[in-house]
Amino acid sequence: MTAMDWLLDLYHRHGDWRDLTLVMLSPVFGIFIAMEAWRFRKTGVFDLWDSFDSLNSGGSYLVTDLILLVVLVLPAMGWVYDHRLFTIDVTPLRFVGLFLFVEFLYYWFHRGSHRIRWFWCAHVVHHGSEKMNFGTALRQSWFYPIAGNWLFYLPAVWLGFEPRWVLFALSLNLGYQFFVHTTWVDRMPAWFEFVFNTPSPPPRPPRPQPAVHRQELRRHADRLRPAVRHFRARAGAGGLRPGASLPDPQPVLDQRPRMARDVP
Ligand SMILES: [Zn+2]
Repeated sequence: MTAMDWLLDLYHRHGDWRDLTLVMLSPVFGIFIAMEAWRFRKTGVFDLWDSFDSLNSGGSYLVTDLILLVVLVLPAMGWVYDHRLFTIDVTPLRFVGLFLFVEFLYYWFHRGSHRIRWFWCAHVVHHGSEKMNFGTALRQSWFYPIAGNWLFYLPAVWLGFEPRWVLFALSLNLGYQFFVHTTWVDRMPAWFEFVFNTPSPPPRPPRPQPAVHRQELRRHADRLRPAVRHFRARAGAGGLRPGASLPDPQPVLDQRPRMARDVP
């Protein structure tokens, strides 16, 4: 069996069209981004180049995630599934339970990403914008699968859910979280607020960001500016289209040496 056969076999065993949920939802995301951009035009909520950067990192994330899913995440999840506690056949009701469990695991992924510097090195990209709009939701890090964000979802696989169902629940979870990234909505019904992530503003004013983080954001913005000028010049000259460029890998690469310096 060649390596390619092995990979295809793995993909057929554990992955299928459900992995493409986020890609299939892309047109819906696009429509909502356009509606929000129109609704909040000239308010400062939306910035074309900022949104372009978000789309760019979202696109590169999907590509690297798909590659690493096949070569790294599915083999690991497959191994854990082979050592599962139970075998859970998915019914509609059990899938609702799985969805809520994955939402719970996502909470710990996100909390871990802010508390543990290794995971923050990947998650920093998501917080790299000073805008809060639907486009910001697409700002994902290509470093996630390498950093090990998928480790947080292994408990569901170990319990006995097939990896493809766990990944499908996660895709739906990420899909609905797109709608959380907006200032358009105020409050959802109380029970919904209690269970789910929502776009509601926090009850207390958020803590001011520490100066270090502000500096970091500013450095990132400064770094981006020459690239934006470059894109504009090239686009103006009829050269490279902005959408054809690769995203700036620097925010992710930059974090690790800094983390290493801080380790005594
Ligand atoms: Zn976060």
